[in-house]
Amino acid sequence: MLELLQIPVWRDNYVYLVRNGDRAFVVDPPDAAAVLPVLEALSVNLDAIVNTHHHPDHVGGNVQLRETTGCAIVGPAHDQERIPGITRPVEVGERVDVAGVELSVLDVRAHTRGHIAYRCDTPFERVTRHGHDGSPGRVARLEGRPALFVGDSLFLGGCGRLFEGTAMDLDASMRVLAAQPPQSLVCCAHEYTGSNLRFAAHVLPANGEIQNRLDGLADERAATGSSVPDTLEREFVTNPFLLALDSDAGAVIAAALDVPAGDTVGMVGALRSAKDRF
Ligand SMILES: [Zn+2]
Repeated sequence: MLELLQIPVWRDNYVYLVRNGDRAFVVDPPDAAAVLPVLEALSVNLDAIVNTHHHPDHVGGNVQLRETTGCAIVGPAHDQERIPGITRPVEVGERVDVAGVELSVLDVRAHTRGHIAYRCDTPFERVTRHGHDGSPGRVARLEGRPALFVGDSLFLGGCGRLFEGTAMDLDASMRVLAAQPPQSLVCCAHEYTGSNLRFAAHVLPANGEIQNRLDGLADERAATGSSVPDTLEREFVTNPFLLALDSDAGAVIAAALDVPAGDTVGMVGALRSAKDRF
């Protein structure tokens, strides 16, 4: 049985722990201190750390966790010099076995030039959200689904800043994510949903799905303090960076941002710049 647990770390980071019997891996640990007590409480061995990109709030726990547990460290081969302690560099398109779970490696460079995401096609039978100001709770509607570990490439209602990539990279990475199974859980690394949805509602004021999601966010977070993960299909109707790829919603976004209709690179670039200033 595959189980997904969320661990709130620092101010708004999320680490994911995937438990497969007595084996486990974690995704993007900022530090070891937040992870070690959870491993102990669950009585699981940490087989591996899986990294999406090199930022310190994603890899800061690598070295100490490896020293303590002897775990492997999986990360992007094309950015391996920036992943501390990496032992298992992976290529885009590769499938890698981590703690007995098969992950596929996706290219989502844009936030950083080395950013990758991981798709797990095996459904998670238990899914537990745990936010910074809440307590852990299972969310039944999220169970029985595969998952995408997207780091900072995609957030609920938005996407990561362009630190190293271009609008063309962002467009390409959104197309990669849009091609994934819609029922997948989007396991992103930060709780930015409120800020993202407020921006989305600002750009697309007539979009009822965005407004409904924003209006329901407090209730969504009430039980666990977290709105993450949620499904990719929900992103398809509320995330402006994915909506830009849709011809009808894209036309509205293009008009709002004064970008030629159909110019998805221009749209996601203008959306990201506007969000930076929002
Ligand atoms: Zn980052």
